[in-house]
Amino acid sequence: MRIHCFGTTGYHPSPNRHTAAYYLPELSMMLDAGTGLFRLIECLQQEPNQSLDILLSHAHLDHTVGLTFLIDVMAVTSLKKVRVHGAIDKLNAVRDHLFNPLLFPVEPSFEFISLEGESGCKQIGDSQVHWFPLEHPGGSLGFIIEAAGKRLAYVSDTVSRVEAEYVSMIHGLDLLLHECYFADDQMEFAIRTGHSWTSEVENIIQTTKPRRALLIHINPLANQELIERMLLRVTKLSGTHVQIAEDGLILNF
Ligand SMILES: [Zn+2]
Ligand SMILES: [Zn+2]
Repeated sequence: MRIHCFGTTGYHPSPNRHTAAYYLPELSMMLDAGTGLFRLIECLQQEPNQSLDILLSHAHLDHTVGLTFLIDVMAVTSLKKVRVHGAIDKLNAVRDHLFNPLLFPVEPSFEFISLEGESGCKQIGDSQVHWFPLEHPGGSLGFIIEAAGKRLAYVSDTVSRVEAEYVSMIHGLDLLLHECYFADDQMEFAIRTGHSWTSEVENIIQTTKPRRALLIHINPLANQELIERMLLRVTKLSGTHVQIAEDGLILNF
């Protein structure tokens, strides 16, 4: 299975990173729809696909603003049908606010499909998708996706706590995508803003032992020195191949 990293930062873009968007071409599935979503154009021109299922973790702009880019994507690629899946309050916020004519001029032709309840499971295309709650202002969902004999989890905006309920659900994955926004010296701020910090993400990886892990939602203000320091720590974790996500990275897992 292949995953394309279109946007690997959170909050706002940086010179090298756009905000959250990850594409699974074999499943015609997108995880979140941040500014990185525009990179779908090039991908679909090389590998056409007619439909797309987008899983929204929540409605914060760094995860949804790219939904407005889909008008262009649909105009110049094979893409005909878009289904946006998420919690009902988040879908309503997107419809009422992001696509309010005062903010964006064109009404979307997408289908909005709500994921009922705090947690649950349903078939979406060829995938079995499980959703579960995360600790983040306004609430956020994590996802486990099972398809073609592989199991991956997408855990974006959340406070990282090894004792959190979701951690018990993500053992032994083929791939874990987990947010890692802050360094340890900003742990208090991470908790206040609903985000993760390096050492606790390390604990989660060591506890759940995925085959591979990709750290995502990297702070756009993190300089190269900080990223290298983080990399030095996480690549020492035993039993898991850990990488820091970068825009343009294509991972086979
Ligand atoms: Zn975010
Ligand atoms: Zn958020």
